[in-house]
Amino acid sequence: MVKFMAKDECLFCEFTKGGRKLWSVYENKYVFAFLDINPAGKLRGHTLVLPKKHFETIDECDDAYLKELILAIKRLIPAIRAVSGAEGINVLQNNGKAAGQLVKHVHFHIIPRMHKDGIRFDENRRQPKPMELAETAESIREELKNQK
Ligand code: 5GP
Ligand code: ZN
Repeated sequence: MVKFMAKDECLFCEFTKGGRKLWSVYENKYVFAFLDINPAGKLRGHTLVLPKKHFETIDECDDAYLKELILAIKRLIPAIRAVSGAEGINVLQNNGKAAGQLVKHVHFHIIPRMHKDGIRFDENRRQPKPMELAETAESIREELKNQK
């Protein structure tokens, strides 16, 4: 976690309200998507997709938001595949601390994968330079524009 948060604050709510959008890749009325600060594996493009309204877990999330989240994921996958050169894509979603949920604002991970890339979801996270994240986010935004 990059910033200390008071108990009743939510990092991802802060992001959706227009905080640090440097690595944002997509947004609409319901959904906000941005690059994970600690991507899994060596490929670029590990993206987090979340509702603009606060829900803690997937079972608490309004259906209207869930529908928009899945549609955004569907739209983002080809763009992330193009930018990363991935051979496969994981969509991962954690609910509760025991399941690996660090941020208590429901979100989906879109993770570009290669054969035998050695990714485990609980370790091996990189720490890319901010410039790399900024360039990757820009590339994905461009791919999305090309899809229109
Ligand atoms: P979870 O483990 O809750 O499913 O995933 C939370 C994700 O949020 C982690 O993969 C973590 O790297 C990412 N994350 C945590 N803090 C920040 C941040 O300040 N900026 C960005 N871009 N990602 C963050
Ligand atoms: Zn929140």
